Amino acid sequence: MNKKLGLYIHIPFCSKKCPYCDFFSKCKDDKEIDVYTNALLKSIKYWSEKASRPITSVYFGGGTPNMLGTDNLCKVLSEVYKNFSVDKNAEITTELNPSYLQSINFQKLLKAGFNRLSFGMQSANDEELKVLNREHTSDDVKNVIKKAQNSGFKNISLDLMLGIPKQTKSSLTKSIEFCRDCNVEHISAYILKVEENTPFYKNQAFLNIPDNDTQADLYLFACKKLEDAGYHQYEISNFSKTGFESKHNLTYWQCEEYIGIGPSAHSFFNGKRFYYPRSFNNFYNNNILKDGFGGDEEEYIMLNLRLTKGINFADFKKRFFKNISRSIINKAKIYEKSGFINFSKEGFNLTPKGFLVSNYIIADLI
Ligand code: SF4
Repeated sequence: MNKKLGLYIHIPFCSKKCPYCDFFSKCKDDKEIDVYTNALLKSIKYWSEKASRPITSVYFGGGTPNMLGTDNLCKVLSEVYKNFSVDKNAEITTELNPSYLQSINFQKLLKAGFNRLSFGMQSANDEELKVLNREHTSDDVKNVIKKAQNSGFKNISLDLMLGIPKQTKSSLTKSIEFCRDCNVEHISAYILKVEENTPFYKNQAFLNIPDNDTQADLYLFACKKLEDAGYHQYEISNFSKTGFESKHNLTYWQCEEYIGIGPSAHSFFNGKRFYYPRSFNNFYNNNILKDGFGGDEEEYIMLNLRLTKGINFADFKKRFFKNISRSIINKAKIYEKSGFINFSKEGFNLTPKGFLVSNYIIADLI
């Protein structure tokens, strides 16, 4: 077993709820933010007593970490440093919303140890941002990236959404060129998924959300355009300049271990999967729900097939002390004939066309 250990810290506050979002977060409440920050400090201490190996990445996600403000973010990170052993090359990311930056001081974040920022841009087209009910414009994103870069951040990621109502190949090209021109290092490009219990779900009949075929077309188009712009694809939805693949997210996809702190945060630690339910009180009382053992062969195959590198036969053997099963190889060979899977001497991987139906193919293989 590789010795990576990621640490995820969930910040469950937003200024308002976006109509397509199903992440666990509530509207900002100043009193609760103090209580929550203190609960994070306590939880960090608790988990550090259980983890003896170094943390290789820390990721503050949300929600909107901006809502905690620079001082609280730094205080929480400092508690991580104080209690865990943190690898000297650890990647330390915080997500940030391009709006609500009044309480964010990039220089302080950098000094505290943050070395990667991930901005929830979604689109560089202001009409599309309006449809998503986002509060920032593309100019806001451009300004904030420049400010972060001038402060010394050299590893910045932008989120891009595919399949937004009214999105066209031409507007998508504009968004991709915007990312390239901002000289960011990493792009996450996710297809909009309409989640139950969201306003988008209730109103989808009126929203003109592109159908599955159009979304697939936009996805394949984006993969090509992002490669052309210098961002190589390394995972179904993730693209980067060479050397800037997200270390933290690779921990998930390479089936390595991580500890998740905060309501709705999941963990895979000491061979077991568990999570905090979507509730503040359960987190405050450290009520964890068990989710069984993790890291078996099926899970390893399922996660690694999200990566463009796919399954490496030698790595599989090193981890499980045996070869990958003949029946999986035989089934994968059938998908190779239709262009969904590539084989090499070292292993096999899904093609971009295969990524579009990855859930179906992976379920069939395992
Ligand atoms: S800001 Fe992000 S986490 Fe918050 S509601 Fe919007 S999409 Fe969801």
